[in-house]
Amino acid sequence: MENKTIARTLRLFSQLMELHEENPFKVKSLATAAFKVDKLPFSIAKKSPEEIEKIDGLGKSTASKVIELLQTGTIQEMADLINETPAGVVEIMGIKGVGPKKVLVIWKELGIESIGELYYACNENRLIEAKGFGLKTQEEIRKAIEFKVASNGRYLYAQVEEVAELLIKEVTGLAGVDQLSFVGDYRRRCEIIDGLDFLIGSGDPSGIISSIEEISSLKVLAESPEKLETEHETGIKVLFNFCSPDTFSYNLALLTGTEGHNAELLSRLDGSDKSFDTEEQLYAKAGLPYIEPELREGIFEFNLAAAGRMPELVEWKDLKGSLHNHSTWSDGVHTLEEMALFCRDELKLQYLGISDHSKSAFYAKGLTEERVRAQHEEIDKLNAKIENFQIFKGIESDILFDGSLDYSDEILARFDFVVASIHSVFKMSEEKATSRLIKAVENPFTTILGHPTGRMLLTRNGYPIDYKKVIDACAANGVIIEINSNPLRLDLDWRWHQYALEKGVKLSINPDAHSKKGFYDTRYGILAARKGGVTAADCLNALNSTEISSYFKQKKGI
Ligand SMILES: [Zn+2]
Ligand SMILES: [Zn+2]
Repeated sequence: MENKTIARTLRLFSQLMELHEENPFKVKSLATAAFKVDKLPFSIAKKSPEEIEKIDGLGKSTASKVIELLQTGTIQEMADLINETPAGVVEIMGIKGVGPKKVLVIWKELGIESIGELYYACNENRLIEAKGFGLKTQEEIRKAIEFKVASNGRYLYAQVEEVAELLIKEVTGLAGVDQLSFVGDYRRRCEIIDGLDFLIGSGDPSGIISSIEEISSLKVLAESPEKLETEHETGIKVLFNFCSPDTFSYNLALLTGTEGHNAELLSRLDGSDKSFDTEEQLYAKAGLPYIEPELREGIFEFNLAAAGRMPELVEWKDLKGSLHNHSTWSDGVHTLEEMALFCRDELKLQYLGISDHSKSAFYAKGLTEERVRAQHEEIDKLNAKIENFQIFKGIESDILFDGSLDYSDEILARFDFVVASIHSVFKMSEEKATSRLIKAVENPFTTILGHPTGRMLLTRNGYPIDYKKVIDACAANGVIIEINSNPLRLDLDWRWHQYALEKGVKLSINPDAHSKKGFYDTRYGILAARKGGVTAADCLNALNSTEISSYFKQKKGI
């Protein structure tokens, strides 16, 4: 065993002791020993137990732990501490910049037990006010987690987007590039991206290859006349495919669709002809309407085509308002007025549905009944003051463990709309999670089911649910399902949008904004909706201010 490994083990041991609030002297002496071991000029493993005990600065009790480690490969006392600590908490200790004191607050005060939950908490601004934290620390932790996740080679769409847009600009300008497009996962707007793929149509690929090799942010991994594999400085794998200009559309289609999509497409084409002016022409040749890149997953697009129901996919301009957002009344960063004016003036929307956290979400300054009344007074004043705009009174009401919402009917009746969401006790069987959601959906005050599975892409799986049962319950109770637009969530998953629509359930593309900037996440929700084959007519918030106002009233039975 190397000294480095011994030092690392002692350091973890000392952190675990500190986390479990053991004797501070022991904690300190272990940390000191770890530091010393790291610097020793000889290998400890080669020393006898007697010699180890004599090493300066190790101390008798630490020396005995080192001997135990060398002889058995473990330290029992440390193994016991690990057993008493949730695995996710041990993992959190491995995040850069998060020492035992902070982990203790995260675990014991915030009740967070995994990296996924911690990341979620950063995104909900829950760390800002925790003891020993602040906005800066929260941002550092958020970045460190993103880095850790990204090192697995998978990225959120939103993480890749900036690199993608910069690169396409750089490549567009290169001599010899006749045609250029994204292909692969990124062009299909997948929620998780393994790498960024381009297609370049050119008569002279070799010239382009050498220009691409000069782009300073890229490192070349492999090269052939058809392909250039590179890695961007962020770690994202970037692949350039080359083809002759006359086969560009053909290659564009085949490098965009999934295997399943391509198999069906190719079966409809006469394989010999590869020159098409456009993809539209290619799809027409295959006897198909044009299929948007987002839909080329090989899941339901051919069924829609066969039924003559190829959807006109929703766009940002179709949305008339924004529902499910937070202000400084709970854990948001901007005031209600700032959020409203941003929606009206920057986003040109007609309404804002505010839905701060409810009283069970104490960590997020959830609203007590008294504060609900006070917020409603403020909304009335703002509605009188802000012209050509409407703020709707909503709440993001916690779904309690038994499926009930956390206000009385008398309070729930005061809202224009209620988003019901789960924010606590995520460990549930599929049966429990499903019945908990269905009970909430059956509550007559529930307007929208918020982020139905609680998933955090790449960091936390959602609780398992029976999608069909939950969606059927929404259909039966006239409840809308949210497409939460946070790039980490995109929940309801697009793979279930068609089922929801078939059942007559409408969807709402909600940013869950906690700041003005957060409204821009709507974009990712739209991309997810497009992948799900959603049209403007399927979206609640494509209704204009008057229409949605009467919709809310009708749902409440007034
Ligand atoms: Zn929520
Ligand atoms: Zn929310």
